[in-house]
Amino acid sequence: MANVKFFNGESIPLEMHKVRIVQKLNLLPVEERVKCIAEAGNNTFLLKNKDVFLDMLTDSGVNAMSDRQQAAMLVADDSYAGSATFTKLENKVNEIFGTKYFLPAHQGRACENILAMTFVKAGDVVPMNFHFTTPKAHITRLGGRVEELLIDEGLNLVSDHPFKGNFDLNKLEKCILENKGKIPFIRMEAGTNLIGGQPFELANAKAVCELAKKYGIMTVLDASLWQDNLYLIKTREEACKNMSLREITLEVAKGFDIIYFSGRKLGFARGGGICMRDKELCEKMKELVPLFEGFLTYGGMSVREMEAMTVGLDETMDEDVISQAPQFISYMVEEFKKAGVPVVTPAGGLGCHLDATRFIPQVPQSQYPAGALACAAYIAGGIRGMERGTISEEREPDGSERMAAVELLRLAVPRRVYTLSQVKYAIDRIIWLYQNRDLIGGLKFVEEPKVLRFFFGRLEPIGDWQQKLAEKFRKDFGDSL
Ligand SMILES: *Cc1c(COP(=O)(O)O)cnc(C)c1O
Repeated sequence: MANVKFFNGESIPLEMHKVRIVQKLNLLPVEERVKCIAEAGNNTFLLKNKDVFLDMLTDSGVNAMSDRQQAAMLVADDSYAGSATFTKLENKVNEIFGTKYFLPAHQGRACENILAMTFVKAGDVVPMNFHFTTPKAHITRLGGRVEELLIDEGLNLVSDHPFKGNFDLNKLEKCILENKGKIPFIRMEAGTNLIGGQPFELANAKAVCELAKKYGIMTVLDASLWQDNLYLIKTREEACKNMSLREITLEVAKGFDIIYFSGRKLGFARGGGICMRDKELCEKMKELVPLFEGFLTYGGMSVREMEAMTVGLDETMDEDVISQAPQFISYMVEEFKKAGVPVVTPAGGLGCHLDATRFIPQVPQSQYPAGALACAAYIAGGIRGMERGTISEEREPDGSERMAAVELLRLAVPRRVYTLSQVKYAIDRIIWLYQNRDLIGGLKFVEEPKVLRFFFGRLEPIGDWQQKLAEKFRKDFGDSL
């Protein structure tokens, strides 16, 4: 957002857009919220959207479109093969990343499937700054293994390191030397999702690519969260202060052999794709596209979404556009810090992450503190966040619980969707919750699927803490919703 100072000295983000299409929201009374979360099996994935006031579950496919994106959707060229819309998208992607070839796919994980099927075989090792659920699943499905080589500071939840998504170069070189011939590619993730949307710096990305070249290893950039990472490089990396967003993007992209992205995040639409400079690489992956995605000129995407993505990618190169989410997130983080609410620092992209371990230390990890906090946030304010803790893990083969490294409640900030007053409301309700944290208890599973239990599993509260929390809410807020 533009640099606008308030006369009263207040430091708040100012929206550089106006809202022209709205969706009515519904805020249920607290007693209803207690019922709804019970009906949803205490799993925020199973809540009905009509019962949610602020949907902060994810940033995926829920970002607001611009008027120019909406307009572009009306002129889409709908043909199975050779669509002019595809050519527009292909040209835009190649312009932005400095690549030559583009393979379309229906979303980010579809790109990961194609990459894994083409390059990964049993016994392989894929070094990453940090894993993300979907690439890890595709790699391990084929018998490969993921090595997380993040800098140590990356897992420090309370930090002021501006680039917690950086690779540890020493660990990377050691891993390369120990796994000669077994590394199909190195994957670097922008806006490192699972550690709180934390960025890497340009200098680190370049060093990773140089190291990979030295050993003749291919490099892959997951650019799904590139827009947040880009903004944070621009505002935090001294050497990039005078570079344009386009220059930074080209500079990062030029080191990587392959760049892929989820268009549900990057480009404010729905879809994805893989970009590269080398024709042979493209040829290797190409035939999987019609097999799994769709013909080479749509890859499972609707032409309307491709038009919207083309414009969205262009708008991503505008600082007023991409600063919105990181500035709102930073505002949330700073307000929480002032109120003593445990939150991951520094602020990253994607969302604001509450540290459930410190928020409700009375709830042991075996009773899913991040999941319990997600239920409490819904009861306190109709706010739907996402558990990123032990519920999101899978059990060990012997049935024992694999405890997550961190117990976080993610409050995602879908881009350009919420206003500052809505964000202030969310902050207010979470601060209230923190003041009443002693009332929050744990959860236990009542239906636990073997795979992806965080999506479908059903839990119940241990004891009647949810009723007590609702009673306290009534006492403090009177007849307010
Ligand atoms: C969301 C995401 C993906 C997967 O993209 P989908 O479109 O949801 O399949 C991959 N990598 C990162 C970093 C993501 O955030």
